[in-house]
Amino acid sequence: MTATLPLPQAQATRKGFAHLPCILCGNADGNVTLALEDVSQFHCNECDEDFDADAVRQQIEQWRAVLDWCAAAPVVKE
Ligand SMILES: [Zn+2]
Repeated sequence: MTATLPLPQAQATRKGFAHLPCILCGNADGNVTLALEDVSQFHCNECDEDFDADAVRQQIEQWRAVLDWCAAAPVVKE
């Protein structure tokens, strides 16, 4: 006998992340999900767009560069 997944389990192939903001639309209502069959592909249910882990890394690196610049910037006094 071959086991088949009942429909509810077969549909549960995405993991949601509570309050994780979408990197595309900024929505933070927990609409970003991850496909468990391809854990590098995210989907936002708010803007209905897909993005991958590399896009997230790219945004983090852009912000890291700005934060590094801020940390090294001299304080300008009036
Ligand atoms: Zn979005």
